[in-house]
Amino acid sequence: MNAEIIAVGSELLLGQIVNTNARFLSRQLAELGINVFYHTVVGDNSERLKSVLKIAEERSNLIILTGGLGPTKDDLTKETIARHLGKELVMDEHALESIKLYFKRTKREMTENNKKQALVLEDAQVLPNEHGMAPGMITDSGKHVYMLLPGPPKEMEPMFLKHAFPALQSKLETDDVITSRVLRFFGIGEAMLETEIEDIIDAQSNPTIAPLASDGEVTLRLTAKHNQAATAIMLIDEAEAQIMERVGKFFYGYDDTSLMYELTKLIKEKKMTISAAESLTGGMFEQELTSIPGAGGLLKGGVVCYTNEVKAEVLKVSQETIEKDGVVSARCAEELAENVAALTNADIGISFTGVAGPEELEGKPVGTVYIGIWIKGRPVHAEKLHLGGSRTANRVRTVKYGCHFLIKALKEDQSA
Ligand code: ATP
Ligand code: MG
Repeated sequence: MNAEIIAVGSELLLGQIVNTNARFLSRQLAELGINVFYHTVVGDNSERLKSVLKIAEERSNLIILTGGLGPTKDDLTKETIARHLGKELVMDEHALESIKLYFKRTKREMTENNKKQALVLEDAQVLPNEHGMAPGMITDSGKHVYMLLPGPPKEMEPMFLKHAFPALQSKLETDDVITSRVLRFFGIGEAMLETEIEDIIDAQSNPTIAPLASDGEVTLRLTAKHNQAATAIMLIDEAEAQIMERVGKFFYGYDDTSLMYELTKLIKEKKMTISAAESLTGGMFEQELTSIPGAGGLLKGGVVCYTNEVKAEVLKVSQETIEKDGVVSARCAEELAENVAALTNADIGISFTGVAGPEELEGKPVGTVYIGIWIKGRPVHAEKLHLGGSRTANRVRTVKYGCHFLIKALKEDQSA
């Protein structure tokens, strides 16, 4: 099956929004083993949409459209498809009911044009919209399969995962089960990781191994196909074991986890509490920590100690350290970590001090960062980093490194 994704929306052509729907759908289709050969973007214009459809029909048999299913005049995707295929639009009672419910729940007045959203192509398979109003649909002309999905990603993505993915799977005329697993690594670059396991990647076709890098992290997606689910999982297990033998020490978790999530899990297991002293990260560490559900009870508090005065007066960094070593130093990071824990009565203190850029500081180059770590009952220590990114990237990476070093330290504690 060859697919083409047609994103409908003038905002996309004007550069006001990015076509993230195509990215999401391409990844999902790859998991199903469906080739995506074309991405098309067209404005909210019936004539141009029709001409794009004609081209797509020449070269693709699965045509997925996103956007233009809403209630307003410029939403014309399904009307255009209906005319193009010579099909009627019929009221879907189910969809109408859920639209009415949606208005009731959100205590808003329903206008007449909202009913339009419950119109679906006759004999289409209707995909319920659990996060909005316009339902999606799949219709099969015999020669082509057309899938219509809403534009907003927060509606489209869950709809695709829950309803469209299984529908496509059953159309694929194969009993193969597709399973995938993501392995997440930190502390190793993408190029290095790929070099380490190049021969494994090259030798593998089932599962396929796809590397991806972002924000200082590298992930490997292992995707296996087999008519027995258990065998697909076994194939992934085998490849994973081979990979881990080479680069296992950089591995930190599976699938949708994050370094911060793994850190909070570990702190919780140990029934400990944490506080942070944040200079260059300005609260980012705590912001990310508190965004994790269930992080409550772990974080005692913290200090954004951006100036030297706050470092000295609130966090009691000694004058000697500030004068001799400077605030971008291992000694300062250690005092900050230890003292923020003492100040807030926490079991763990972590600190971040460094030069985020663009200007250097105390004669230390941009990207010099010290992370202080104090764990109750153990000597305090600091880790030094040399980061090479922009100001924002350096701050984001600093937080990740903080999680990484602290996870390492807490695990060492376990093995001791
Ligand atoms: P609505 O009911 O919200 O009008 P719709 O199905 O009619 O939904 P559009 O009107 O085309 O969809 O787009 C609505 C919003 O969805 C856009 O403003 C944009 O924020 C988002 N969106 C649409 N298409 C895409 C896309 N290809 N990638 C990412 N976001 C998109
Ligand atoms: Mg719309």
